[in-house]
Amino acid sequence: MSVVKKDQVLKIDGSTGEGGGQIIRTALALSMLTGTPIEISNIRAGRSKPGLMRQHLMCVQASQQISNAKVSGAHLGSTAFSFAPNDITSGDYTFDIGSAGSTSLVLQTVLPALLFANTTTATLNDPTAATVTIKGGTHNPLAPTTDFLQLAFIPAIAKLGMQVAIELGQTGFAPLGGGEIIATMQPFVRRAGTAPFNLSERGDLVAIKLVASNLNLDYDICKRELSSATACLLESGINESLITSKCAKLTGIGEGNTCYAVVDHQVKGTANVSPNANANANANEVHREVFSLLGERRTSAENMGNRLAGMVKRYLLDSDALVDEYLTDQLLLPLALAGGGEFTARTISRHTETQAWLIQQFLPIDIQISPINANKSLIKIIS
Ligand code: AMP
Repeated sequence: MSVVKKDQVLKIDGSTGEGGGQIIRTALALSMLTGTPIEISNIRAGRSKPGLMRQHLMCVQASQQISNAKVSGAHLGSTAFSFAPNDITSGDYTFDIGSAGSTSLVLQTVLPALLFANTTTATLNDPTAATVTIKGGTHNPLAPTTDFLQLAFIPAIAKLGMQVAIELGQTGFAPLGGGEIIATMQPFVRRAGTAPFNLSERGDLVAIKLVASNLNLDYDICKRELSSATACLLESGINESLITSKCAKLTGIGEGNTCYAVVDHQVKGTANVSPNANANANANEVHREVFSLLGERRTSAENMGNRLAGMVKRYLLDSDALVDEYLTDQLLLPLALAGGGEFTARTISRHTETQAWLIQQFLPIDIQISPINANKSLIKIIS
């Protein structure tokens, strides 16, 4: 799988491209999977507080634990470290970030390695699965929320045959955190006859589900968010019968609010991609995007609802690409590991460009990004 030799250290400049935490997470994941020792410098050089924050340090420590790696230079605030992995060991792990740092981003670091690990350690419930419990924040700014992982990321990678389940134990918002997620990963096996991953053509809009959730805050906030989001979507001509909404109560310490929209589209042309694709045909019929916002003290519930509807409208009306900004950068690595595929992306962020560059430092694959128009590009991952 590797394009670099196992004993040859791969030096990575952490300020390349987007220059954030994603370079660290992806480099750790690929270092473990390819057995390549890495040295990362200029960590998060472009950020206001450069170096390793608690969440990034947890990513290094979690990776060290599952791959019995030799690590030097990794501490809070450090701007360079080296990481030399050994074999990955599956099993049951618990990682406590110790702050409200994002549990999702820690999970995304260890998930590829555990999906591909040889399971030598049996877990309690399922002798073949790995489980990871992560404590910290579950709803963080600038990171996928647990809802996003459960409803958008997991179903998307399930189309590749990757079986992951995430349970939300407690919800954790900044500044207190105190959240917990439990992820279960079945070892990945690429099955013959699996339909090629192809999310290129957007079919009909199937449903828009609006959800507003509160942690220890007034129920009325959720109701107002949902009614302003619904009104704004109806105003733009979206068929009322497609929209449903729901308020939910979260459990955990502190306070918080999130609202999100779950948008489902049919995927054109997937049912007949392969004569042997029946087992996957259903999974391939719908593509799901999740748009989420976190409540802020000085923002009204009505404003939140309007902003949420604005995100949905931008995706629905400005482009006919299937995959939105965040899922685009998050899908590149699973696709690169699972044999490739193609999809249309509404927008190509610097995260996506940087991710494509970094993956190609480790793996002998070609990631092609071809603009179709201002709001649509075709991404092909060819392994
Ligand atoms: P970094 O800024 O390098 O730590 O990377 C942030 C990661 O979080 C990227 O993979 C983004 O796709 C993801 N992300 C940021 N905001 C959101 C959001 N609102 N929903 C889903 N994913 C997000």
